[in-house]
Amino acid sequence: MKILFLDQTGQIGGAELSLLDLLKPFRADCLVALFKDGPFKDLLEQHQVSVQILSNRSLSVSKDSSFLQGLSSSFQLLPLIAQTAQLSRRFDLIYANTQKALVIGAMASYLSRRPLIYHLRDIISPDHFSATNRSLIINLANRFASLVIANSQASQAAFVAAGGHQEITKVVYNGFQPELYQYSSANRSELRQQLGLDTQFVVGHFSRISPWKGQHVLIEALQYCSEDVTAILVGDALFGEDQYVNQLHQRINELKLGNRVQTLGFRSDVAELMSASDLIAHTSTSPEPFGRIIVEAMLCRRPVIAAAAGGVVEIVKHGKTGWLSPPEDSRKLAELIMSCRNHPEQSARIANQAQVEVSQRFHIDTIRQQVRYLLQQVLHCKESGQHIPYRLAE
Ligand code: UDP
Repeated sequence: MKILFLDQTGQIGGAELSLLDLLKPFRADCLVALFKDGPFKDLLEQHQVSVQILSNRSLSVSKDSSFLQGLSSSFQLLPLIAQTAQLSRRFDLIYANTQKALVIGAMASYLSRRPLIYHLRDIISPDHFSATNRSLIINLANRFASLVIANSQASQAAFVAAGGHQEITKVVYNGFQPELYQYSSANRSELRQQLGLDTQFVVGHFSRISPWKGQHVLIEALQYCSEDVTAILVGDALFGEDQYVNQLHQRINELKLGNRVQTLGFRSDVAELMSASDLIAHTSTSPEPFGRIIVEAMLCRRPVIAAAAGGVVEIVKHGKTGWLSPPEDSRKLAELIMSCRNHPEQSARIANQAQVEVSQRFHIDTIRQQVRYLLQQVLHCKESGQHIPYRLAE
C-alpha cells in the first residue's frame, strides 16, 4: 500500500511521534511530506522514512486565527496544493495527520482522485479552534475524507458534535512499543544523581510548554506540598509561547520555588526521565485529545495523576490505574501528590496494574493492524466504485 503522509509541522509533538510509530510498516512505499522543515524531518530520516519538505514558507493559519486570513494570502496555498496533488498521483492514499494537512490534502485528493484519510488528533471545540476553523475542518472532512481516524472517543465525539459525519469516523488509539519504556533501577539512580535529586520526591511533567498544558497548575500545587516534593518540567515552547514561559519563571520566583523546580527543555530521553521520577503529573486545562505522556508514564511503571477531561478518562481508571484530578485544581493535585508520596506501596501497586493494562491495550502491533485493516477497506471501496464518503463496515 503506497501512502503519502502529510503533516504541517517540522516540530516534534505528540501527533508527529504517533505518526512515526504508525507508519513504520508502510515505510518502504511511503513518503512523508512536511509543510515546514525542522527536527521532525531528521527524526524521520533516522528511522529510514523518506521525507520531502514541500514549502519553506509558513502557512499563515493558526488554530485560533480565522482561516480566511490564511486564504487571503492563498498564493501560499496554491503551489502547495498543486505540489501535493502532483505527488499524490504516485500513491494509493493521502493521509493527513494534522488539520492544515487536511486542508491541503482535501484539495489534492479532489485533483488527483486519491482517497483521503484524516487522522483526527484534536478536540474540535471552541477551546482549541475558532468558529471559522471548526467549520472549515468539519466541512472538508465531511466532503473529502473517506475515513476520519479519531485518536479517542473524546476526539470523535467533539467532531460529531461540531457537525462531522459519525459514519466516516473510527476510533483508533495511539500505539506504543512497551519494550522501549523499560529501565533498570541503576539507570534511575544515576540520572537522579546527575539531576541532583537523590532524596527528593520527584514529580515529572512532560509536555511542550503552553498555557493549556497547565505547567502553572503544577507550580501552584507545589506550594501545598511538603518541601521534599520537587518538579522537573520537560518540554519546550514549540509554537512561540515565550510569554507563558516568562510567567512561569516569575511565579516560581514569587513562590520561592526556585530550588524545587527544574526546567529541562525538550528531551529525547523521556522514558529515562520518567523512570527517574516518582510520579508523573498531567495538568492540561482543556480536554486532551489523547495524552501520550500518560500512557508512556504507565509503561514506565510510574504512578500518574492526570487532568480528568477528554481522552484522558478513557486511559486512566481512577484509583485503579492512576488518579484523575479536576483540571486547574492545584489544591486537589497537591492532595493527590502527597497521598502518592505518603503511600508508596499503594502507588507501586497501581503503577504495576497500569503497566500491565496499557502494554496490551495500546500495543503498537494491534494499533497498526487496526489502521491497516481500515485503509484496506477504503481502497477496496474505491476499487469497487463506491462513492465517497465510503461507509465503513462495522
Ligand atoms: N515529548 C518529548 N520530549 C519532550 C516533551 C515531550 O519527546 O521534551 C514527547 C512525549 O514523550 C510525548 C509527546 O511529546 O510522546 C507529547 O504527546 P502528548 O500526546 O502528551 O501531547 P501533544 O504534544 O500531542 O499535545
